[in-house]
Amino acid sequence: MARILNAETALAEALEALEAGELVAIPTETVYGLAADAANGTAVARIFEAKGRPRFNPLIAHVDGLAMAERIGKFDPLSRKLAQAFWPGPLTLVVPLGSGAPVHALVTAGLDTVALRMPKGFAGRLIAALGRPLAAPSANSSGRVSTTTAEAVEADLGDRIGLIVDGGPTQVGVESTILRVEDGRLLMLRPGGVTAEEIEAATGQAVERPTGGAIQAPGMLASHYAPATAVRLDVAEILPGEALLAFGPVRARGAARAMAMLNLSPTGDLREAAANLFAHLQALDRAGAAAIAVEPILHHGLGAAINDRLARAAAPRDNSAIPA
Ligand code: AMP
Ligand code: MG
Repeated sequence: MARILNAETALAEALEALEAGELVAIPTETVYGLAADAANGTAVARIFEAKGRPRFNPLIAHVDGLAMAERIGKFDPLSRKLAQAFWPGPLTLVVPLGSGAPVHALVTAGLDTVALRMPKGFAGRLIAALGRPLAAPSANSSGRVSTTTAEAVEADLGDRIGLIVDGGPTQVGVESTILRVEDGRLLMLRPGGVTAEEIEAATGQAVERPTGGAIQAPGMLASHYAPATAVRLDVAEILPGEALLAFGPVRARGAARAMAMLNLSPTGDLREAAANLFAHLQALDRAGAAAIAVEPILHHGLGAAINDRLARAAAPRDNSAIPA
């Protein structure tokens, strides 16, 4: 059982929980969100753990307005115009990630773009009070439908989270539309609460809805972060010239000769490992090593998503299949 608080009186407690790195289920106008402080990697890892998500796909960072959004992402004039026209509201904009943005690499799944949205109502007030963005996918366990009432959140996730904020049934009931401006073109990555017609009316420009071809699924333009350096998994021994991505207290043979070494979690904690995954991969990618050797990582819990992402990083590259 999670505590369920009315949105009218929940702000201080929700804020306290988020500042402590805990998850809070919150109402937005689209669906209920499972929110964490977007700057706190361990808190964001908890989102994937609570949802039982088998992979680290990028999450939407929710902001309290354009000013916060522009501290996170780089807005071209058309993206700015769209934010001004539709925020707060069910439109998510994918823009290049700015440097030093208060968004942990687990939120963007290591990508150099970030998905941003300003929600209405309680969620917007909560973000303003926190002063930082909230990472929040839909508040449902992986494979189940999105939730639109506090009762539905409790039924699905109540045994895995501490606090649910009840703002009544959500108004829109479907997820946000995801849009990306690329070379002045409007690409709809996912249909949702704002229609293509509304976007065309606001911009005077056609919305392209990629069907088939290069972009087959929502968010596919996201591609996947993959290091330029080759990745070798489940290693028992480090070869000369390799960098080591370690896990846990026990080292693989030859670890002393690694060109560089970073440990995802010296104690073998999967939540810590998830929070460190992208930053460590990126750092070892810069080491100029022949390959990044990865020690075996547990497969249970968050280990499934960690191993999934590492397997993708290790897979042979077929650039034609990965747009952007
Ligand atoms: P949800 O789990 O409902 O929050 O959905 C988030 C959606 O946003 C997923 O389809 C993601 O693939 C997409 N998304 C998030 N960040 C990005 C990004 N940087 N580029 C493209 N799509 C993104
Ligand atoms: Mg969802």
